[in-house]
Amino acid sequence: MLIQNLSVRRQFEETGHATTKGHKIAVKGGYIHQTFQGGYTYSPLGFRVLLNIERIIRQEMNKIDGQEILMPVVSGADLWIESGRYNTVDVLAKFKGRGGADYVLNPTHEEIVVDYSRSFLESYRQMPFMLYQIQTKFRDELRARAGVIRTREFIMKDGYSFHSDQADLEKYYARALDAYHKIFKRCGFQNFVHVISPSGDMGGDIAHEFQLIHETGEDTIYLCDACGFNANKELVGEDATCPKCGAKMRQERAIEIGNIFQLGKKYSESMGLAYTDAAGKQNHPIMGCYGIGVTRILGALLEESADDNGPVWNMETAPFAVHVIAISDKDGAAFTAAEKIYNDLTLAGVDAIFDGRDARAGEKFADADLIAAPVRIIVSAKTLADKMAEVKYRVNDRDTSGMKDSFPLADVVSETQKAIELLK
Ligand SMILES: [Zn+2]
Repeated sequence: MLIQNLSVRRQFEETGHATTKGHKIAVKGGYIHQTFQGGYTYSPLGFRVLLNIERIIRQEMNKIDGQEILMPVVSGADLWIESGRYNTVDVLAKFKGRGGADYVLNPTHEEIVVDYSRSFLESYRQMPFMLYQIQTKFRDELRARAGVIRTREFIMKDGYSFHSDQADLEKYYARALDAYHKIFKRCGFQNFVHVISPSGDMGGDIAHEFQLIHETGEDTIYLCDACGFNANKELVGEDATCPKCGAKMRQERAIEIGNIFQLGKKYSESMGLAYTDAAGKQNHPIMGCYGIGVTRILGALLEESADDNGPVWNMETAPFAVHVIAISDKDGAAFTAAEKIYNDLTLAGVDAIFDGRDARAGEKFADADLIAAPVRIIVSAKTLADKMAEVKYRVNDRDTSGMKDSFPLADVVSETQKAIELLK
């Protein structure tokens, strides 16, 4: 990709409405464009990050036997009436079709996945199974805030597991909890925890939230340094005493980045999802559900890692792996050499971006900070005279102090590939 063709609008002067560091950088770097209050268009840059986050989630969900499906954004009101939630979920957006039919924009998909499972589930032998999707959702929230952290429309990974007994659900739930830790670590989060939470609107008994400890968070969580018990506000009394060991708990602000619930039989019973159990009797599956806000992860990563110059991605989430810059105008030898490096990297399958503009070095570096490719390759008349390219790293969870600060021009592709591997 050539930087001058990247369809991104950087808004250096127009970040005044942004209230947090992450939101400012998202706007300044042109990652997001607000289309309506609470709804965003993700630029080529922002969408590359989202696709990277989705890839991490898919890989970890598939490792715990998740099966990806795609359910509709819209559904008829009938499934929500059947589950009893049509009039109890306040964020449910309802509308009428021209023929008078009642529709909803699904803010979550328990009803839809249970309806789908009714189409094939017959025997206990088919369980356990877990179905997930990565898809757009709409919640008719009264307010939206802080860029892509709390929006009305967002992309979510939602997963639903089905089990023939509670022990099997608990076994799977522990695997999902572990997979969530892997996902958030791979995304590059540094300071997140899981806390016990009440299950709220979703029904069921046990639930956990994954919370990024951060001062801009809307949530308050309590952490017990004595015994390791973490809980959200609803489960801790006014005095913030640990319910497990009695120690005083530490209070932190946090951004919720994921949640998992044990749902029990709430939806399988209300919607008549049944199977034949080992004794030949009809029974209802026990369900778990597993959510991650994909677009919110983008916002939360920026809140935690960005500095005043731009984001700090890791090799898994960065929109480009390598950024090639020439300190030269277009007819200079350094420009030609840098362009060749970019072309060679692209041919070798490296995801690279090249600054092919006639722009000042300062402008090129400022834009490189906003794109924040972990590996930056710089060619100038001086490095060219030494038959070298200068290398800089920008990465949030690796120590780069031992890595090379220049590559010979003759080996630049293989050296770059090695550096990318080291940063993975
Ligand atoms: Zn404790």
